[in-house]
Amino acid sequence: MNMIGLVFLLLLFMAFLLIAVLIGVYVYRDAKNRGMNAPLWALIALLAPSLVGFIIYLLVRGSHAKLLCPACSAKVTETYTVCPNCGAKLKPNCPNCKSAVDPGWKVCPYCAQTLPESQEDCLQPVQPQDRVLGKILVAVILIPVLLVLGSATAVIGLRARLTSSTTSYTTLSVGDYLSEMEDPQVQQWFEQSGKELNTAYVLRYAEPGNPHRRTCYVVYLPAVGEDYLSAGAGVSNGLFGSALEIHFDAGNEAGNLLFCAEVSSDKELGLKVYLNGKKVPVEITDVSFCPFPEGVDSSIR
Ligand SMILES: [Zn+2]
Ligand SMILES: [Zn+2]
Repeated sequence: MNMIGLVFLLLLFMAFLLIAVLIGVYVYRDAKNRGMNAPLWALIALLAPSLVGFIIYLLVRGSHAKLLCPACSAKVTETYTVCPNCGAKLKPNCPNCKSAVDPGWKVCPYCAQTLPESQEDCLQPVQPQDRVLGKILVAVILIPVLLVLGSATAVIGLRARLTSSTTSYTTLSVGDYLSEMEDPQVQQWFEQSGKELNTAYVLRYAEPGNPHRRTCYVVYLPAVGEDYLSAGAGVSNGLFGSALEIHFDAGNEAGNLLFCAEVSSDKELGLKVYLNGKKVPVEITDVSFCPFPEGVDSSIR
């Protein structure tokens, strides 16, 4: 799992969380307004997978209309004949028996009186527009789409930044190296290298010129002796740039082994050194010539 995968998973998780919270809060408040069981419906909308709970809620709530008094905007229900807040008349009465009747009825069902076409003193409850639902649906659709587009862009961007490179390397003993390299700068480098077992002391030469520059590394890691189990190098591409990675698997015996690596790449490279899977500090000394003995130079080219 690389960086980009992790970041994407985190974003995805946060997006789902955000959508869930939006839906939960919306359903709770909406159900409460309609006199439905708000905690129960919020829970159903949250826990049923893939928005199934939310969809069921939207279907069921249709029979629990949210109505407001047209005079004072207090909450009313379909069964109220007057507004409990301001007393506005919400349903017509039968002129004969005074029972509340529905506006569409032609005959009073309680006393068989023919009802007039309309009654002017009666107000129809209003159904408020639900603007929040539209926003939630937009979020439910947009957030995953934006996430997918965003991650696709990131992957394409990373691809474009991939470093093309070739790496070759070899090992040799410190003794052989120092006897072949008579350059005082190299001798001085080795003498001045600290003897911290788990620090990599590195000589680096970057050939001038771009693109496809060649860089030579001589790595001395005091913890790695002749009994080392494996050593290898390769270029890794990360979110924050590319690096030459050198890995050692070594036993407990400290030693005097040198690792010579040469990389050609079209971009600048960092350097990371690992000992038994753990990254170690790196101290780099830059030199103005390739610090490889002739034998090494020809063998790894
Ligand atoms: Zn009212
Ligand atoms: Zn009647």
